[in-house]
Amino acid sequence: MSIILLGPPGAGKGTQAKLLEKKRAYVQLSTGDMLRNAVSEGSELGNKAREIMNRGEFVPDEIMVGIISDKIKSIGEANFILDGFPRTEGQAIALENLLKIRGRSLSAVIELKVDDNLLIERVTGRFTCSECGAVYNDSFKTPKIPGICDFCGNSEFSRRSDDSKEVMKNRLEVYHKHTAPLLQYYENRGLLRSVDGMSSSEEVEIQISGILDDKIAAKG
Ligand code: ADP
Repeated sequence: MSIILLGPPGAGKGTQAKLLEKKRAYVQLSTGDMLRNAVSEGSELGNKAREIMNRGEFVPDEIMVGIISDKIKSIGEANFILDGFPRTEGQAIALENLLKIRGRSLSAVIELKVDDNLLIERVTGRFTCSECGAVYNDSFKTPKIPGICDFCGNSEFSRRSDDSKEVMKNRLEVYHKHTAPLLQYYENRGLLRSVDGMSSSEEVEIQISGILDDKIAAKG
């Protein structure tokens, strides 16, 4: 299976990709995580990406395509789930070509639909356990004991530097302009399926699982 999770920032792509990684052993390919790792390592890529990400803009296609191409080569035949790629039509075309070269094709593109107002609230209130990566929110989901992670007991949390209100507004604008057109692109190829990303993450997971089980049954 080769799956894309498509949706605006804060739609829950990362959360769902991590669940699929845990429950179905799919490999999560998150370009956002790859870039954040590069930033924290201080690599050449990280130094280039830092400012771009902090403005809420896109890292150039040729860099992103190079990164994903290497990753897809390195995972061989494994099932994968792309989270954060493609974000432009150029990236989508490049992905199609690089899968074709490897004798693979996309199984499904799953859209997570969420209204913009909720996205702003989700993203600007988001914080993460620095130890285990559990995600919390000032408005919807604070730790049961304030200041202590529910899952690992750690007391340090972090916020992404691009999760401020101003940068988030720009990320949304850039999403609507450059990434949302991919919905039609994949609809035209018969690959698009949509789920209600406003539901709880458990419900979203059930909807996604249903789509994947249908795909597996159709193949089998
Ligand atoms: P979100 O989907 O919540 O905006 P990500 O973690 O996927 O967050 O991405 C964070 C940032 O990394 C993006 O705003 C962008 O600057 C950069 N980025 C990630 N993936 C891509 C990509 N495929 N193309 C261009 N830039 C990317």
